Amino acid sequence: MTKRSDDWALATKLARGGTMRSQFGETSEAMYLTSGYAYNSAEQAAARMSGDEEGYVYSRYGNPTNQMLAERLAALEGAETCRVTASGMGAISSAMIAPCSAGDRVVAASALFGSCRHICSTILPRYGVETEFVNGSDLDAWKRALSKPTRLVLIESPSNPLLEAVDIAAVAELAHAAGALLVVDNVFATPILQKPLELGADIAVYSATKHMDGQGRVLLGAILGKSEFIEEHIDPWLRHTGPAASPFNAWVVLKGLETIDLRVRQACANAAKVADTIAAHPNINAVRYPGRSDHPNYEVHKKQMELGGTLVAFSVKGARAEAFKVLNSLELVDISNNLGDTKSLACHPSSTTHRALNEEEQADMGLDESWIRLSVGLEDADDLCRDLTQALNAL
Ligand SMILES: *Cc1c(COP(=O)(O)O)cnc(C)c1O
Repeated sequence: MTKRSDDWALATKLARGGTMRSQFGETSEAMYLTSGYAYNSAEQAAARMSGDEEGYVYSRYGNPTNQMLAERLAALEGAETCRVTASGMGAISSAMIAPCSAGDRVVAASALFGSCRHICSTILPRYGVETEFVNGSDLDAWKRALSKPTRLVLIESPSNPLLEAVDIAAVAELAHAAGALLVVDNVFATPILQKPLELGADIAVYSATKHMDGQGRVLLGAILGKSEFIEEHIDPWLRHTGPAASPFNAWVVLKGLETIDLRVRQACANAAKVADTIAAHPNINAVRYPGRSDHPNYEVHKKQMELGGTLVAFSVKGARAEAFKVLNSLELVDISNNLGDTKSLACHPSSTTHRALNEEEQADMGLDESWIRLSVGLEDADDLCRDLTQALNAL
């Protein structure tokens, strides 16, 4: 039995949303590591398979632990329905490919997570889906690109790695006028700080690998939106292509969600302090933090995101050698391309997460070799500031 969660406040939804107790009355959610399900009779098996009777038939189709997570995520996002997948890319690729057919058109912001960009630039065109990239923060560019019929629009805000803002409500309106579905990759913002569906998006997608697990342990993804869309397009795609989430990973993320609000808010407070410390250092050209008023898209971020987020980007004076020197001088912060972890992590996007883009494509999104991206975790903020300061002093 799932308790009613419609009128619960957020903290209660995060601690209890979706919980289904077994006959043993466990307080912590159970982990159902099972691939299949047994039936009481051949008649029941037939009824389950035909859909005449509700219930589980196979864990590629559904699993009770995954269902608990999906319900908790839907409660957090304020979505009608959620499906969980093996990874964030499992969710995003499914949300993009499942509704598209040859001849359709997709418009995407040019600043995207590397694999999202690869789907748009390389995979979709091979199946006859035309894609166009636009500068995400330029509303006139969106107006031009969405003056033609379009099936789907993909954006990310704040974007990776330079934390640009896309005005979600404005792009939603333009997308809908062009007949398109708006898909928002809300990983950097987290569902705690920004609600894409409330802002007009049709589908929110997540890498739960990041802040939802929040402790760097497992891969998982989520697709959230209207039941009608999910049942028509996403369910058949997931069933027949198979990016099913492991119930073990779903359980880890289910437990992660219980603390996501506390963790994200503390990491945001740390990130704001770290961003201010970096901004005051003489060896940098620029810092980008959505919560700082010197961010070029500060007003848009402020309008749609509650706090500044857990990511900071900064450009060091110099280029690749100087950026590497700063990374190699870090004593506390780890060099890693992951993000949204308890541990603070830093990377050089130009040579790692965005290396597949050529120099021109990187320049297109304002990226060059002087930039470092920092995911701020839950260590003591003063320890983090000291580490960044000593690493920048090394230049
Ligand atoms: C990590 C990430 C993804 C991909 O998620 P995986 O869980 O690694 O597959 C997609 N989008 C953004 C913005 C990400 O940070």
